[in-house]
Amino acid sequence: MKVKIRKGDTVEIISGKLEDKGKRGEVIKVLPDEHRVVIQSINIRKKHQRQVQTQGRTVNPGIIEFEAPLDISNVMLVCPKCGEAVRVGLQRENGETRRICKHCQALID
Ligand SMILES: [Zn+2]
Repeated sequence: MKVKIRKGDTVEIISGKLEDKGKRGEVIKVLPDEHRVVIQSINIRKKHQRQVQTQGRTVNPGIIEFEAPLDISNVMLVCPKCGEAVRVGLQRENGETRRICKHCQALID
């Protein structure tokens, strides 16, 4: 399956953790091999960091918050034209693959 989500897209969470359901955020990373995406401020995990020494610098212990990757099937692209969470179609034009909103038929890029 081809990944239709790209970095910089706005997506809506359609399944997964309840607290994130229905939220929207910007895609900050796409992991095509794992079929996952990282979305800003979504799926926040906390990690306890021990004090470590790296390259002569000390990283202080504490709790680090970070965005954990989500499965791509849990998100839908938000169309920049109609603002709906939509299915995306692909169209080939002059050798380029373009994405189309299946809701309003607008060219996404
Ligand atoms: Zn649309």
